[in-house]
Amino acid sequence: MSLSNWETKKMGKFTLRYQPYTLEMKHVFTVASFSRNTTPVVLTELEYDGIIGYGEASMPPYLGESQESVVSFLKQVDLGSFNSPFQTEEILSYVDALAKKNTAAKAAVDIALHDLLGKIMNQPFYKIWGLNPDSIPPTSYTIGIDTEEMIRKKVSEAGQFKILKIKLGLATDKMIINTIRSVTDVPLCADVNQGWKNKEEALEMAYWLAEQNVAFLEQPMPKEQIDDNAWLTAHSPIPTIADEGCQRLSDVTKLQGVYTGINIKLMKCTGMREAKRMAELARSLDMKVMLGCMTETSCAISAASQLAPLVDWADLDGALLIGNDIYSGMIVTDGICKLPNRPGIGIIKN
Ligand code: MG
Repeated sequence: MSLSNWETKKMGKFTLRYQPYTLEMKHVFTVASFSRNTTPVVLTELEYDGIIGYGEASMPPYLGESQESVVSFLKQVDLGSFNSPFQTEEILSYVDALAKKNTAAKAAVDIALHDLLGKIMNQPFYKIWGLNPDSIPPTSYTIGIDTEEMIRKKVSEAGQFKILKIKLGLATDKMIINTIRSVTDVPLCADVNQGWKNKEEALEMAYWLAEQNVAFLEQPMPKEQIDDNAWLTAHSPIPTIADEGCQRLSDVTKLQGVYTGINIKLMKCTGMREAKRMAELARSLDMKVMLGCMTETSCAISAASQLAPLVDWADLDGALLIGNDIYSGMIVTDGICKLPNRPGIGIIKN
């Protein structure tokens, strides 16, 4: 599959190309706050000395970025004053300083730069970072909120996975778990997407879910309810993980004691450089680390996967949920992420 509408921008020794693309999801995807069946992304390419790095920004609508905002951010980026891609720290600090938010747009540059660097060094990025690809935890596979019949169908399609991620946060929570438990006893994790509002009810659910072999709770209550989330974490029989409540490196220290751990996503934190720092900081604070994703092609998923040996839980199913991936990279076999032994983030075009 090839795309032909690349916008090209020459900047000294670098060339940046970008193009909006729409991911089509295999199933309508429902969580506590919305349903959708497509995800807008912008694909990027960063070229230096004839070598091309691939990147991607993914913009699920609730995060406030769009193809238009990403394109207008990329139009501002000018790497013309940098002589070498190995000025990584300076380049990415410059990109981050261009605007306050735009984290997915920044990730599209960060990922392409890391891919480019790995290709120049001719090594996969997990090797450059010194990480063991055989120590990646099994990835979860997400089952969205749905009817009993569709949940049974989705669970039966997910047979290879050693852990399933269940979206909760509506009145149907117990029905969903009971339906899944009627067909499989595979471990689960629950993502409430801020759907529970009352801490006592949340704790009651945490105990019930622990009995159902649910390993942890992601974002049980609204991120603004800091004291309630901290109370739940102190009393819950299973770990709590901040997702909506944790965006960037500067959030991590504040979340110690509020949640057991954090969910790191490249699109929230501006890419691979900051994601690695977040994982290391969380570890140093004795917090758990989960690595998540948006609906993304194998580009952003393979970029995140380079970090997966560092984490406790991986949730890297984003490319499996779409029907029109244009790259091949990290593959999931028997529920385990297998990193390709290719340079950079390890992807090739389909
Ligand atoms: Mg989540």
